[in-house]
Amino acid sequence: MRKIGFLGLGIMGRGMAANLVRAGYQVTVWNRTPRACDPLVELGARRAGSIQEAVRASEVTIAMLADPAASRDVALGPDGVVACLQPGQAYVDMSTVDPDTARTIADAVNRVGGRFLEAPVSGSRKPAEEGTLVILAAGDTELYREMQPVFEVLGKKNLHFGEVGQAAAVKLIVNMTMGGMMGLLAEALALGQNCGIDGQALLEVLDSGAVANPMFRLKGPRILVDQHDPHFPLKHMQKDLRLAVGLGDERQQTLPTVACVNETFKRALAAGLGDCDFAAVARVLQAREGGGP
Ligand code: NAP
Repeated sequence: MRKIGFLGLGIMGRGMAANLVRAGYQVTVWNRTPRACDPLVELGARRAGSIQEAVRASEVTIAMLADPAASRDVALGPDGVVACLQPGQAYVDMSTVDPDTARTIADAVNRVGGRFLEAPVSGSRKPAEEGTLVILAAGDTELYREMQPVFEVLGKKNLHFGEVGQAAAVKLIVNMTMGGMMGLLAEALALGQNCGIDGQALLEVLDSGAVANPMFRLKGPRILVDQHDPHFPLKHMQKDLRLAVGLGDERQQTLPTVACVNETFKRALAAGLGDCDFAAVARVLQAREGGGP
């Protein structure tokens, strides 16, 4: 497959689409806010004026969109992907959504004779730019096989988890783990600060023992200097926690830690931190008085 449509050029999508252009694919890009297409067009991508123009120009269309509402709009809307997909044409949604959204889109694609793969990713802005994402796929196994060369451009590893919905579940489980770890790191640094402990020294201790991990190493120093340019926007982490809590409800699986961390992220969202990196959740924990940010 050499002709690829790419829908959604946010923090992740723009790096991924750029890698496909550089790898020699004929990429047709579309974004709801059209100016996001400009740098990609400069790089050699074609510009689509509509979702359907991108789909018609392509053998496979990839989407990398904000949340379940965006994925549903783009796939199922009156001018969306399914409304113009031809039998045999492929659609790969790489957005992080809940299993039910993935299954609803898969059913709609299959009803018109299309082929569907869900393929959310692990990894952030840099891995998207460097082509080192971990791709979590589920659905049409033949399409998964055909997508291997594309996935090899976008990621360092890809796995297939069976029926559509399973990759979404894996992705939410990974992100609820990350959200929980971030909540705890933020609380640790806030308590440390409150006790007059040097933050760098505390991070060094954490990094020297059994809880050492790349995320603490990367985000810890940023929390200390309170710099939160978005790699993974806080609003998306809260969305993933919300979806994980919902999945727990659906499966009758108790998730007390995740529910609690979700509340902290909701507070950060209400404090206007949604477009900051998710490490900015630390701001609402550092407040000494009044409980505000
Ligand atoms: P982002 O920067 O917020 O970009 C979101 C994209 O979705 C933009 O292109 C936006 O278009 C589009 N969009 C939102 N609502 C839409 C709608 N109703 N119709 C059409 N397009 C819509 O997000 P991102 O960081 O690239 O993340 C994309 C997805 O990957 C999310 O599901 C996120 O959870 C997941 N993810 C992110 C990371 C990360 O570290 N950033 C890592 C792994 C997975 P506009 O430009 O018009 O707003």
